[in-house]
Amino acid sequence: MADKTYTGEFYCVKCKAKREATGNIVVSENGTRMAKGKCPECGTNLNRILGKA
Ligand SMILES: [Zn+2]
Repeated sequence: MADKTYTGEFYCVKCKAKREATGNIVVSENGTRMAKGKCPECGTNLNRILGKA
């Protein structure tokens, strides 16, 4: 399997800015890999779609 964590840019909807964060990679039922992180500035949950596994 691929990496379990993702480090990179997420877009924070609350800050309206890109944030560097590390998040866990989860795979949804339809096979789309998503990274779930947390904004280091405001603590909002961040999601980033990484594409098909
Ligand atoms: Zn934020």
